[in-house]
Amino acid sequence: MKVKTRFAPSPTGYMHIGSLRTALFCYLFSRQNKGDFVLRIEDTDQARFIEGAIEKIIFLMHDMGLDYNEGVDVQNGRLIDKGEFGPYQQSKRREIYKEYAQELIKTGHAYYCFCDERRLADLRKQQEAMKIAPQYDKKCRYLSQTQVQSNLKQGLPYVIRQAIPENSQVIVKDLVYKEIVIDTKTLDDQVLMKSDGFPTYHLSVVVDDHLMQITHVIRGEEWIPSTPKHLLLYKVFNWDPPKFAHLPLILNKDRSKLSKRQGDVAVEDYLKKGYLKEALINFVALLGWNPKTDQELFSIDELSAQFSFEKVNRAGAVFDVEKLDWLNGMYIRKMDLPELTRKTIPYLEKAGLVAKDKNGYKAANGNALSQEAIESIVKLEQERLKKLSEIGERVKYFFSRPQYNPQILIWKKSNLEQTKKNLQAVCEFLENLDEKEFASAQTLEAKIKQFISENNLENGPVLWPLRTALSGLEASPGPFEIASALCRVYGKQEIIARLRAAIKFLE
Ligand code: GLU
Repeated sequence: MKVKTRFAPSPTGYMHIGSLRTALFCYLFSRQNKGDFVLRIEDTDQARFIEGAIEKIIFLMHDMGLDYNEGVDVQNGRLIDKGEFGPYQQSKRREIYKEYAQELIKTGHAYYCFCDERRLADLRKQQEAMKIAPQYDKKCRYLSQTQVQSNLKQGLPYVIRQAIPENSQVIVKDLVYKEIVIDTKTLDDQVLMKSDGFPTYHLSVVVDDHLMQITHVIRGEEWIPSTPKHLLLYKVFNWDPPKFAHLPLILNKDRSKLSKRQGDVAVEDYLKKGYLKEALINFVALLGWNPKTDQELFSIDELSAQFSFEKVNRAGAVFDVEKLDWLNGMYIRKMDLPELTRKTIPYLEKAGLVAKDKNGYKAANGNALSQEAIESIVKLEQERLKKLSEIGERVKYFFSRPQYNPQILIWKKSNLEQTKKNLQAVCEFLENLDEKEFASAQTLEAKIKQFISENNLENGPVLWPLRTALSGLEASPGPFEIASALCRVYGKQEIIARLRAAIKFLE
């Protein structure tokens, strides 16, 4: 049978990092098996409706490269169904669920429950006081047929509950967790249809996975307790269940469940901060999947070739933001400069350093900036950047003259007099150096080092203040790189002006 996976998010308004991992693993597995991949929207909880939330999911799926061949999509600004098994939005499938709920009632595998909220709340309280797990006490399961019919006739509100078989066991076979045996005693008579006529997740997920011919259900570990209820439904409908693969929880460093309170969990937030899609994909792939080799960087193609459920861990996966930073830095380094610059410009704009008008880009002081000039600035940080949003803070000095601090300007093994003298000497040397010698950092380095040795100076006491006079920063790229980039953007005069300002500051 052709493999078919589905990603079935509820439209909550943002995509949790764990959902991205689920979507990715569904995508990888279907692609690896030349199968189909479905995006189904589980929006039966009307109370949680959020405008635009479905569009957001769809946008992210395409943006992250997780293309699917079936499911809800956007065309000309409208939601459409792609594929033969639609509608793929559960809120549009109410009639289908109703039919299956009726079938369960007929066969005695589900029943009407007329208990109101008050009774259920009291029951919960009693059970809590007795320290037993809250469960419905099955009162309506044993109502007589006449009673049920009379209640229905009177128009009493009802839900439909699953009649869980008593004294039985369910065996969940899982591609990651292997075998889990569950006693039906522990299972609640789950609500399948709510009083508003919408199904609960448990009914709709089973009906849809069956009707959409899903072969592999891949989802988070938090759904394991629901799986036996689903398997019981497959059984009473006489359907073959799909294979299940549950993915380990994602944890904070302190091993608590990754939650919104402790930091960002939304994929959108990470993208906004300037994490690259490739890095995020690589990072979430490694949350629970262990390639068992030393390889750490994986393209999506490599992932789909190498992925396997045997290598998914059962233990929770710790979300380590430092690892994400490291990976992101690796991808930034690998990127070609024009592409990196294009992605970085919005962050320079946000930092108020660069603005765009009809003639192109400008620095905040009005200086025109060619694409090449911006590239030289970005190149300075390509080796160091961990995320794109850091760029503004890192290259601020490039856009306005530095404020000096003697402790930074003077090298710790040097002193004020020596620093001033060396700065004067190097300033004079650079003033007389042809502008074309600044074109490459390497040429400039060779020239300056030659000047240092010919004048019996030492590198440290010259190069440190040269660098800090240009950047004003304790840590920054090297003096030759900065000087070469400054020259490309503003001309040599800017270098001389900064050196003079630093000398003046020391007087
Ligand atoms: N709608 C569920 C969710 O939001 C899907 C669970 C499943 O994949 O079965 O996570």
